[in-house]
Amino acid sequence: MKIGILGGGQLARMLALAGYPLGLRFIVLDPDPDAGADPLSEHLLGAYDDPQLLAQLAEHADVVTYEFENVPAHVAEFLSQRTRVYPPSNALAIAQDRLLEKTFFNDIGIATAAYASVDSLADLQLAMVALGYPAVLKTRHMGYDGKGQVVLRSASDLEPAMAAMQGAAAIVEGFVDYRRELSIIAARRPSGDIAFYPLSENRHDGGILRVARACHDDPMQAMAEVYVRRLLEKLDYVGVIALELFDVGDRLLVNEFAPRVHNSGHWSIEGAETSQFENHLRAILDLPLGATATRGHTAMVNFIGGLPASTHLLACRNVHLHLYDKQPRKGRKVAHATVRADEAAVFENTLAQLIQFADDVDDS
Ligand code: AMP
Repeated sequence: MKIGILGGGQLARMLALAGYPLGLRFIVLDPDPDAGADPLSEHLLGAYDDPQLLAQLAEHADVVTYEFENVPAHVAEFLSQRTRVYPPSNALAIAQDRLLEKTFFNDIGIATAAYASVDSLADLQLAMVALGYPAVLKTRHMGYDGKGQVVLRSASDLEPAMAAMQGAAAIVEGFVDYRRELSIIAARRPSGDIAFYPLSENRHDGGILRVARACHDDPMQAMAEVYVRRLLEKLDYVGVIALELFDVGDRLLVNEFAPRVHNSGHWSIEGAETSQFENHLRAILDLPLGATATRGHTAMVNFIGGLPASTHLLACRNVHLHLYDKQPRKGRKVAHATVRADEAAVFENTLAQLIQFADDVDDS
């Protein structure tokens, strides 16, 4: 069986690493000759919307999936006419547009922050009367890792914030005073079986994920599962999905979903019975899903912009290093490390050490 992946970065690399033991082979389409999955796959080198390369991808792959959500609709359409493509294109279309996404959540009874569509300064001024300060203005499309976002603290912020959108369609959201940022990862097969991972508690700085740790018996787990199940079933979804949530005390508000494997689930590689990568492959191949329980205490730390010496990291017991084969650049995720331990104290100490290593090299 050969899996086609649109995008050949670290997520494709980790999918391939999970797929080889299952006897799978990989073919990726990526414009970067040094893409992280290159050593592990056949590599179609070129643009994501090159019709010839897409036709080759569809011809050689038994199933096509992707590692990012900003796949142009016509590309998903082109591929779906030629082969099986999972997750489905409707999930992509919704995840690409924050306004569609928030509207969809509310239509299916999933709570979000209050929001309004913004196409002009007048729209924004009107919306702020209802929302109040602070609020967050975000581009509707192509936002990730906090890019294309501005926090609004007073009326004097409105004009510069609109200018920062550079004419792009936007959405304004009430600022959520959350206790914790969480995410839940789940996998669904075509038959409808779903596997849920334990919630992950996530720490972001400057909009970029830094640390994700698996929760144990979290009081919000049941509510998160209700939300993600509803989303998966309404989309008739196949594959792994990640739902980002704000814990506001008595309930959860949903921020967004990613129709793919997700950075906040990287601890599952060593920290869960079956990783999110393996479960994504199992789901899109309609194979039985693997157990998602954690193996002790586990967390993941991202290395951004730079990398501590591998010898320091590997000298920490209970640490597993994942290098992405990427040249360090400001603000770029170049690796992560997973920590897994049976004893809570050992886990906390090792995690604190890893965070210190990551902070020391972080240039973002
Ligand atoms: P996003 O690109 O929507 O995932 O946002 C990136 C990060 O910005 C989130 O993980 C939060 O830390 C923060 N953020 C986004 N939207 C809000 C909001 N409405 N209220 C408070 N913080 C937010």
